[in-house]
Amino acid sequence: MKDILPDEVYHWQRIEWLLRAHFESFCYREIRTPLVEEAGLFSRAIGEATDIVNKEMYEFADRSERQLALRPEATASIARTYIEHGFAKTHGVVKWYYIGPMFRAERPQRGRQRQFHQAGVELIGSDSHYYDAEAILLLCNIMHSLGIEAWRLAVNNIGCLDDRRLITDRLRRILTKERSALCDDCTQRLQGNVLRILDCKKPECRKVIDALPEWDRWICDGCTKHFNRVIALLSCAGVTYTKEPHLVRGLDYYTKTVFEMTLPQLGAQDAVAAGGRYDALISQLGGERVGAVGFAIGLERLLLASAHFLSGETKKTPDAFLVTTSLEACDSAFILLYQLRTNGVMCDMDFEGKSLKAQMRQAGKAAARFVIILGEDEIRGGTVTVKDMGQGVQESIQQERLIPFLKERSAGEHGACQDT
Ligand code: ATP
Ligand code: MG
Repeated sequence: MKDILPDEVYHWQRIEWLLRAHFESFCYREIRTPLVEEAGLFSRAIGEATDIVNKEMYEFADRSERQLALRPEATASIARTYIEHGFAKTHGVVKWYYIGPMFRAERPQRGRQRQFHQAGVELIGSDSHYYDAEAILLLCNIMHSLGIEAWRLAVNNIGCLDDRRLITDRLRRILTKERSALCDDCTQRLQGNVLRILDCKKPECRKVIDALPEWDRWICDGCTKHFNRVIALLSCAGVTYTKEPHLVRGLDYYTKTVFEMTLPQLGAQDAVAAGGRYDALISQLGGERVGAVGFAIGLERLLLASAHFLSGETKKTPDAFLVTTSLEACDSAFILLYQLRTNGVMCDMDFEGKSLKAQMRQAGKAAARFVIILGEDEIRGGTVTVKDMGQGVQESIQQERLIPFLKERSAGEHGACQDT
């Protein structure tokens, strides 16, 4: 788990602002659910036999011996919220987004942490194929805004629960005959979620998988039509994708459309976002049978890939820095500082009694746009001396004109002198 220091936080904020703007332009609204849930929620939603639940979940008993878990992802929590607050009856379709930390006890490495962050959307309450396409287009827009063009989008259809049952039975029969050629993990998977064998990266398993029959012909007509409509919309919108028959995703709740976006520049952990449809989840957790679709973006990996977008600015710089020429002027400067801040001017001053030279150095280091000098002469005349650090010019102005002066000068400049 990592500290995120202030210089870095600024990058996070810029990415988060951009994400929020995109989510909101597609009419998704933010939802915030607790970081801790009853552990059973995740085993029921994600699946007992998945790596996330089996190996990666931070699970503990609280003082009342309730089994709790730090959320490893947000979809299960959001499905719980939808059911608990009766949204099926009152709203039908909801479009929600979230941004926040998730927890998985994995081996930390580049692009993989134990506390990491995801931003994602969940559309709950509709079977419409337009929403699958909408989610993918939203993801593409985000990448485009961040200047990330070299992404790869893999899509696949894993069918409804009935299809999955049929496919699982048939694949299990075929793969059991090949059991000796599979890795230990996949031999185990023969008993549980056989589909996950298709996802295995080990060369010995890949050989077996590549020789399997095209299992998507076992998917029912309804699900095939749904998927074909999704990819037709993507093509119309000009999105390039690859139909990837081995893409099944590691979570049990997916049905029909699944997708994953990878960025080659990320190296070994190249998946930046993943998602799909989960039509059975809400009813599996005790709610109505409603369709749903969503995705999650891994923000650590998104940041790694957003160097171009984030280059340049590293932090917000103050509009002004106040400098005093005597200790006596300090109290007046302190009050002036307070007035400026109250009026939305981002500014600071030295409280350590530093020399004039040292104060000017500090203003330079802070990269303040203006230095405001308040000395004995200025106090007597009710003025301040304002030095524009960009242009190197200095002028004397009346104190009551200072705030309008700063606002005028900064009008239209990013982040400067905001109205409060
Ligand atoms: P991976 O293949 O990296 O294990 P996953 O299939 O476990 O990913 P999802 O559960 O689909 O991942 O989560 C969506 C996204 O969240 C991933 O594509 C990735 O960008 C990010 N993510 C998942 N686990 C971590 C982690 N431990 N640290 C950082 N980011 C992560
Ligand atoms: Mg994982």
